[in-house]
This record gives sequence, C-alpha cells and structure tokens, in this order.
Amino acid sequence: MNLETHVLTGIIIQIYCFMIFIFPFNIVFTILFTFFSHFILDAFVLIAYHPPDPQKGDLFWLSWQIITYGSGGILILLFYPFILGILCANLVDLIDWVILRLLYTRMIKKEKINWRYNHIFHSIIAKIRKKTLFWLPNLTYNKKATISEILIDIALIIGILFAK
Ligand SMILES: [Zn+2]
Repeated sequence: MNLETHVLTGIIIQIYCFMIFIFPFNIVFTILFTFFSHFILDAFVLIAYHPPDPQKGDLFWLSWQIITYGSGGILILLFYPFILGILCANLVDLIDWVILRLLYTRMIKKEKINWRYNHIFHSIIAKIRKKTLFWLPNLTYNKKATISEILIDIALIIGILFAK
C-alpha cells in the first residue's frame, strides 16, 4: 500500500494503544502493532492500484504518486506527535526500499540488480499473500483500483476522527 495508508494506520494504532494501555505497554504495543500492520496491509496490495514498476510517461500513475506521497507527507506533519506509530508503520518500507537499496547500490555498483527480488520483508509478505490471499483478484495495474485504497484511507480517517 502507499505511504498515506501506512501513515494513517500508524496514527490510528498509536491513538488507540495510548487510550487502552498504560505505560510502558502503550509504547510496546504501538511498536508491535504498527510494525505488523504493514504486513497485513501489503498482503492486500493486489486489490489496490499499485504497479510494482514505475509507469514512466503515464500521467495517471505520476499524479497518483504525487497524491499519495504528498498526502502522506502532509499527514506526517499534521500528526507529528504520533511519529512513533507512523515510523514503525513504515519501517518495513524504509528497510526494504531505502536502507537495503542504498546498501546494494554501494555494494554492487556495476551489476544491474532487480530490487524487487532483493528485499527482506516484502518477500515474506509475498509468501503470506500467496498462501492466504491467493484468491484475491490482481488489480495492481487497474487504475480504478485506486478506489480500494481511497476507501481504506477514508475508513482510517473516520476511525481517527472518532477517537479524538
Ligand atoms: Zn510495503
């Protein structure tokens, strides 16, 4: 799923963990639940518009990137006090797409490698998906499937508004 969905999930989990649990369990459970929320959300990625490779020249894809990263960035700024939940909810992407990519670039400078097959957590998520959610339709290239993620985001926003 995209940045804004993971950010919203991190916020909502932290809000509810701090409402339900006392210190230090509120922090411990925020870290645990937000970290594993990424596995659940990304396991459902096939029902959302999420091409695994950049669709260069496609204006719709480019606009969707700007909207998701833009709204994700704004949410991080607006909900900065929930940075623990936000950070842990995005840790899987940070490790696989940022840290590992940097490491590979430094280690293997000349050889061209496919990043998609060289990550840790997203290959685990792919295995979970193949074993449990194989029956879902693959809509990753279907532009109408942006609606699935928008609906998930609306549900999360409603959950956040009700908690406050
Ligand atoms: Zn991810």
